[in-house]
Amino acid sequence: MANLKIGKMVLRSLFKRPATLMYPTVPREWKELTRGRIEIDIDSCIFCGICARKCPTDAIAVDRNAKSWSIARMGCVQCSCCVEACPKSCLLNKAGYTSPDTEKVVDTFVKPEAEPGSVVDS
Ligand code: SF4
Ligand code: SF4
Repeated sequence: MANLKIGKMVLRSLFKRPATLMYPTVPREWKELTRGRIEIDIDSCIFCGICARKCPTDAIAVDRNAKSWSIARMGCVQCSCCVEACPKSCLLNKAGYTSPDTEKVVDTFVKPEAEPGSVVDS
């Protein structure tokens, strides 16, 4: 009796669609509210460091002199404290996670130098 039951299950499974996605070959569709990863509009950043001070996991590093902003992707817990604290609203939660890696991923963004004579809004 048990064998018949198992046989039926196996047969059904053979003709059913897979229950899981073939990730990453088939990309996942993210819901609009997914707190996937933090992105920055580096052009709007004033390097005040508030986001780094608010981050509970010390995932953010800001270098005012080098005009750089870094995030340790594996240290971020997507709490959004940095997004809410940024006075320039230049951080956002983007749907979609950082790709898996064997190394600890640190993404660094550097603000490009302004063209001589151009007006920089801060
Ligand atoms: S809080 Fe905003 S403006 Fe300040 S360093 Fe962070 S990202 Fe830049
Ligand atoms: S979302 Fe939270 S953990 Fe991630 S960088 Fe911002 S403050 Fe830090």
